[in-house]
Amino acid sequence: MSDTATRRPGESVFDRLEPLLPQVQKPIQYVGGELGAVTKQWDGAAVRWALMYPDAYEVGQPNQGVQILYEVLNEQDDVLAERTYSVWPDLEALLREHRVPQFTVDAHRPVGDFDLFGVSFSTELGYTNLLTALDLAGIPLHAADRDDSHPIVLAGGHAAFNPEPIADFLDAAVLGDGEEAVLEITDIVRAFKAEGSPGGRDELLLRLARTESVYVPRFYDVEYLPDGRIQRIVPNRPDVPFRVHKRTTMDLDAWPYPKKPLVPLAETVHERYAVEIFRGCTRGCRFCQAGMITRPVRERSITTIGDMVENGLKESGFNEVGLLSLSSADHSEIGAVTHGLADRYQGSNVSLSLPSTRVDAFNVELAEELARNGRRTGLTFAPEGGSERIRKVINKMVTEEDLIRTVVTAYSGGWRQVKLYFMCGLPTETDDDVLQIARLAHEVITTGRQTTGSRDIRCTVSIGGFVPKPHTPFQWAAMADPETIDRRLKALRDAINSNRSLGRAIGYRYHDGRPSHIEGLLSRGDRRVGRVIEHVWRDGGRFDGWSEHFSYDRWVAACDAELPALGVSLAWYTTRERQQAEVLPWDHLDSGLDSDWLWADWQDALSEVEQDDCRWTPCFDCGVCPAMDTEIQIGPTGRKLLPLTPVNT
Ligand code: SF4
Repeated sequence: MSDTATRRPGESVFDRLEPLLPQVQKPIQYVGGELGAVTKQWDGAAVRWALMYPDAYEVGQPNQGVQILYEVLNEQDDVLAERTYSVWPDLEALLREHRVPQFTVDAHRPVGDFDLFGVSFSTELGYTNLLTALDLAGIPLHAADRDDSHPIVLAGGHAAFNPEPIADFLDAAVLGDGEEAVLEITDIVRAFKAEGSPGGRDELLLRLARTESVYVPRFYDVEYLPDGRIQRIVPNRPDVPFRVHKRTTMDLDAWPYPKKPLVPLAETVHERYAVEIFRGCTRGCRFCQAGMITRPVRERSITTIGDMVENGLKESGFNEVGLLSLSSADHSEIGAVTHGLADRYQGSNVSLSLPSTRVDAFNVELAEELARNGRRTGLTFAPEGGSERIRKVINKMVTEEDLIRTVVTAYSGGWRQVKLYFMCGLPTETDDDVLQIARLAHEVITTGRQTTGSRDIRCTVSIGGFVPKPHTPFQWAAMADPETIDRRLKALRDAINSNRSLGRAIGYRYHDGRPSHIEGLLSRGDRRVGRVIEHVWRDGGRFDGWSEHFSYDRWVAACDAELPALGVSLAWYTTRERQQAEVLPWDHLDSGLDSDWLWADWQDALSEVEQDDCRWTPCFDCGVCPAMDTEIQIGPTGRKLLPLTPVNT
C-alpha cells in the first residue's frame, strides 16, 4: 500500500493526508497535536514503537493502557513512541485511492516504518480492524510473509490472553501488565539492533520468546484430534518455553501513570483524568475475565492517588476525575480516599466519580461524598443476574434485599435515575431467571415511590449478552444460541411493560444476541478461526464493535465457507460445552490461575455454591499468589491490613 520509492523512513505523510481530510467525517481525529502529545526526532531514536488501539479515535484515545505505554516509552531518551487508531471507512477508501499508508497521529509517520507495532485489544471485535491497519500499512497480513523490513507486530490487552484466533497475523503477544514488559522488549530490540541485527527477524523473535513472557505463535505447533478438538500445542524448536507467563507489575505506586494525560482535541467517549486506584479483583465473579486475569489485588496508596489526581489535573486542565478499577469501592481505604478528595476539591469546579458496580449502600454513601460539589453523576449497579439462583451460579453475592435497599437509598439521596446492569445467556439460565429482572425492576420503582413519596424516579435496565471467556470458570460453558437470547429479551420487555404505570418508569436497553455469539467464537477460538476473520475482513468487515457496521450474516457466511472443511463450525466453538480433559487453545498461556481450581469453581457454579472474596477470608488456592511469589497487597503504602474491616465513613 505505501509507496516507498521516494521517501525516507519516518518521513511524515501529512502533506498527502491533508488534502484528503476535508472529504471525510470528523477530520480532526487524524490531526494529533493534543496537549500531552510527544513528537521526537526519528533519527535519534534507537527503538521506535507505533502503538495502536484498534478502534476509532473517539474510543481509542482515552484508553489508559495505550496512554500509559506511550508515556513510559517516551520517557526513555532514545525511544520514540507514537499512536495510531483505526481509520473510519471513508478515510480508508481515500488512503487506498491515494496510496497513503496507515499513519500515526503524532508525527503522521507510516506505521510500516517502525520497529514495533503494538496493538492493544480490550475486545475481540477489534480483530478485523487489525487487518485493515496492517494492510494499509503495507505490512503483510500473515506473519509468515514478513521480512526484516517489517515491524514486529505484537498484541497486548485482555484479548491477548487467547491470541490464537489472530495467531497467524501476529509475530508476538504479551500477557498481562505492559509497563515493565514494553521496556524489557525495548531493551532486547535495542541490543539486537546495536549488534547489527544478527540472524534477522527470526533471531529477534527467539530472543523475545526466551524471556518466557512473550508468546511467539510461530514457535508453537497445534495438533488436532480427528473430532476437531486440539490434541496438543507444543514448541517446535528448542529453548522456547512450554508455557508463557503473564507479566504483573507489583508495585503500582512506583508507576504513577499517566503523569501527562493526553487531552483530546476531538470529542471522545471519556474526557476526564482517570486514576486506577487498584488493579486486580478477588470477588470471584465467574464470568469476569478481567477479575480473574488481573489477580492478585494491588492497591495504590492514598498518597499516590492524591498526588496523581493533583498532578493529572494540573497537567491536563480536566475538571473531572474518575477513580477507576474493577470494583473501586473495594479499595481497603476508599472511605479515606473519597473523603480526602471531596474535601480537597470542595467548592472547585472539579467533579469526582467512582464507577459503582458493587450493590451495597456503602457505594451510595461514597457517591454522595463525591457529589458534594453538587453534581450527581450516574449511579450504575451491576447485579448481573435477575434471580437469586442465577446470582449464586455466577458468584455475584448480592441479595434482592441488598439491591432494593441500595437503590432506594440512592433515590432518597437525591438520585432520580439509577442504572441496573444484567446479563442474558448465563450458564444454566432459564426463561424465568431472565423474567425475574422485570419483577426486580418493578419492585425497585414501587419501593422507591413509597419511600421517597415521589413519582419522579426512574431506573434503566441494561442487558448485555454473556460471553464465556478464557481463564475463567465459565471457559468450559456452552453459550445459549442467539434465538434463545432474543426470545428471552423480548419476553422480558413484555414483562416490564405488563404493568404500564411501573413500566413507564423503567428504561430498557439491550443488544440482540448476535454480536455476543460472534464474540464467543473469537474469544474461545483457536488458530483455525483466523481464516474466518480474514474472510470477513476481505468481505468488507470493519468496526465489528459498532452495531451499524457489524454484520452477523457476514460472519455466519464466513464460518460456513471456512470451517466445514476443518470439521468444525460456529456452533462447535460457541454452543458446545467442553469437558475437563479437552486441551483448550490457551492452555499453554499461563494467567497464574490453577486449572484445577478453575474447574472446581465451574463445578461449584453448576451446584450453585458461592465462593467468598479471598480478601476477607482465607486463601482459596486459585494459584495466583504463590505463582507470582506474592500476596494480596492492600492497605496504606503496602502495609498489610488483613484481616480487614470494611471502612465506614
Ligand atoms: S492465591 Fe489465594 S489469596 Fe491469592 S488471589 Fe488466589 S485465592 Fe486469593
